[in-house]
Amino acid sequence: MPDEPVNEAEILSEIAAWVEEYAAENGWVLNPDTRQMNTVLRGLTRNTIRFGSRYCPCRLRSGDPGKDREIICPCVYHRDEIEAEGNCHCNLFFREDTVQE
Ligand code: SF4
Repeated sequence: MPDEPVNEAEILSEIAAWVEEYAAENGWVLNPDTRQMNTVLRGLTRNTIRFGSRYCPCRLRSGDPGKDREIICPCVYHRDEIEAEGNCHCNLFFREDTVQE
């Protein structure tokens, strides 16, 4: 049986809906620079299609699935980064008080 064709637009829109919900749940906002934000969303989509999980597009995978689990979005680092720097490494999730209107 041939593999199902990958619907990239559908995966992208699922990820976009998830990031919005996840940011809201945590009291964060998404990067107001939509161009930058879309670049990250496309990277997450690409990694989902190529590697089967939402690997962070801003970090290098080691190739060891156990270790790389740490960098599946939301990565293990994001809370500390958002707390300390105001945003996660990819500039996807932001603390509301660090975003200028
Ligand atoms: S740095 Fe941000 S975008 Fe990258 S995996 Fe962590 S939470 Fe997701």
